[in-house]
Amino acid sequence: MIDLLKEADPEVYSVIQQELHRQMNVLEMIPSENLVSEPVLEAMGSVFTNKYSEGYPHKRYYGGNEFTDIVEEIAINRAKQLFGAEHVNVQPYSGSPANIAVYFALLQFGDKVMGMSLAEGGHLTHGHAVNFSGRAYKFVQYGVSREDERIDYDAMRKTALAEKPKIIVSGATAYSREIDFKQIHEIAQECGAISMTDIAHIAGLIVAGVHQSPFPFTEVVTTTTHKTLRGPRGGMIMCKEQYGQAIDKAVFPGLQGGPHEHTIAAKAVCFGEALKPEFKTYGKQIVKNAKALADALQAGGLRLVTGGTDNHLLLVDLSDKGVSGKEAEIALDKANITVNKNMIPFDKRKPFDPSGIRLGTPVLTTRGMKESEMKEVGRLIVKAVGKWNDEAMLANVKAEVIDLCKDFQFYR
Ligand SMILES: *Cc1c(COP(=O)(O)O)cnc(C)c1O
Repeated sequence: MIDLLKEADPEVYSVIQQELHRQMNVLEMIPSENLVSEPVLEAMGSVFTNKYSEGYPHKRYYGGNEFTDIVEEIAINRAKQLFGAEHVNVQPYSGSPANIAVYFALLQFGDKVMGMSLAEGGHLTHGHAVNFSGRAYKFVQYGVSREDERIDYDAMRKTALAEKPKIIVSGATAYSREIDFKQIHEIAQECGAISMTDIAHIAGLIVAGVHQSPFPFTEVVTTTTHKTLRGPRGGMIMCKEQYGQAIDKAVFPGLQGGPHEHTIAAKAVCFGEALKPEFKTYGKQIVKNAKALADALQAGGLRLVTGGTDNHLLLVDLSDKGVSGKEAEIALDKANITVNKNMIPFDKRKPFDPSGIRLGTPVLTTRGMKESEMKEVGRLIVKAVGKWNDEAMLANVKAEVIDLCKDFQFYR
């Protein structure tokens, strides 16, 4: 894919080639990852990386921005069309700064906010103690119920009414079920909070119509652009018109300097792709694949948190399998299957060596795999996890994985 680099810098060229080879020869099952199209890559590598454009379209602090304005407006308009958003800011460098910008825009330091606890599926930026969010604001957390491991909306409502947070954040990073954004918005209204939804993981599924959308009711929606949406690594904030000015000011000059216009150009390309009817088919296939994989894993005797999935990800509880999440991650790595260890709700183990693994289907779906391949992938995972300390068996699985990958190459 890259020709000039080969001569100019063989050292970096070579490591990029090795990474490409790795990506094409593993089953990449980290649910927050995806493969971008070559047009997205091309926009990322464009001359927009040269440009300083602090400010917003037609209100910049630098000259020479006539084309940057156009590309940023294309991205904004396509995002509005894609989600039905009123106001869009495409400048956040990633998902985490997008969330921090919203807090910075709408809260005073020390204000009370409510978010889902990391241990039960939320994100670091939803108030974890080690994160800026948890340090700068007073977070109260909600989570899932012990009975069905799904979000406990009744408990959430009770806490919200008692604590009266200024914002209620919904959205998750390790939750395999559909989230009822409407109900959470109503709880927010009842207690006088602003409703904020972080759709980082599921943006592409919302576009495809296979997950409830937080639009038009939720007041502020943040997302990454690089997960199921299949765009460049980046963030975005969408909100009701009334919050637009405060949020724009918080992103720049509040938190960031010059926007990454090459990434914004690539976001525009990604949104263009997501507006096509094929993207809906793609998003639906991600979920079909996740369900097929869930069936295969359960048939092989693995327990899934909540008993299954509605979206692109699965959380496997290994606590009765005699193997920890960390050991399983390492074993699967040896078999060329990339997953991540993850806490399960009410985990008795620690974050560095938890009881679960988290896996998802976006990358495999992008590569063209369907339900029949998921059955095969499930079988390989069950085999590798069962024989996690058997090097010869893991090498066997690895050979099978490489063979399967041959038929699903992605980049030319
Ligand atoms: C991934 C994720 C983010 C953070 O995105 P980064 O681009 O890694 O900063 C924020 N919120 C949720 C729910 C996520 O899953």
